[in-house]
Amino acid sequence: MSEGDLLLAKEKIATITNKGVGIDLGVKSNLTLSVPVNIHLPENIKKKGRQLKRLARQLDRKTHPRTKGDSSKKSNNYLKAAARLSKLYKHYRNIQKDYREKVSSLIVKHFDYICMEDLNVRGMMKNHPLAKAVSEASFYSLRTRIEQKCQMVSKTFVLADRFFPSSKTCSCCGQYNSHLKLSDREFNCDYCEVSIDRDFNAATNLYHYLTNKIGGVTTEFTLADLTALQDDFSLNHLVTSKVETRNQYNFYSFL
Ligand SMILES: [Zn+2]
Repeated sequence: MSEGDLLLAKEKIATITNKGVGIDLGVKSNLTLSVPVNIHLPENIKKKGRQLKRLARQLDRKTHPRTKGDSSKKSNNYLKAAARLSKLYKHYRNIQKDYREKVSSLIVKHFDYICMEDLNVRGMMKNHPLAKAVSEASFYSLRTRIEQKCQMVSKTFVLADRFFPSSKTCSCCGQYNSHLKLSDREFNCDYCEVSIDRDFNAATNLYHYLTNKIGGVTTEFTLADLTALQDDFSLNHLVTSKVETRNQYNFYSFL
């Protein structure tokens, strides 16, 4: 695609309306869109999270009162480490916020109808392996931010019902697959024998939910739109990738 085409695509996005998207929040890639794009959590958020954990462990080893009646004082080393930890934590929250703002702005810029699922974040936090990923990605704040920005520019935000089975339904034929496990990365349908990426399947189901809700079909997302979207994300130093398409059905002919 040439420079001129790219500019054209961007202009088109500024004018054409009626584009819809379903967004699945996940652990592997932070966001999976129903247009085949993954948005990944920035590496520095994960790195700072690891540093935080290490620093918190170091802090705990320094001399400080461990119970209420403990008479030992906070050592100088403890105070120094505590100051370092609070500074790092502040930085961590800032880069999380920066990521959240950028992602929500770009998504609201490129789409007019957005559908996300109503995640049970509190329930997910109880599941230990999930909890870390969920808090790193700050799912809840991200969704709220997208919702708020939609309201600001009068775009439509649809929240799918908490019990809508977005991951366990086949997005191709609508068959319910009850034996899909959390560890299964691929959705295999016994009925129509389709085999697609798990998150992409969920995002596509959310897109179908959206079109049902608004009672119409949204404009097709073209290759030019896709390029402009990816371009915009990379300009903001956010990492995206195309959804891996092994045995994908022919939903998007340009793949
Ligand atoms: Zn199927």
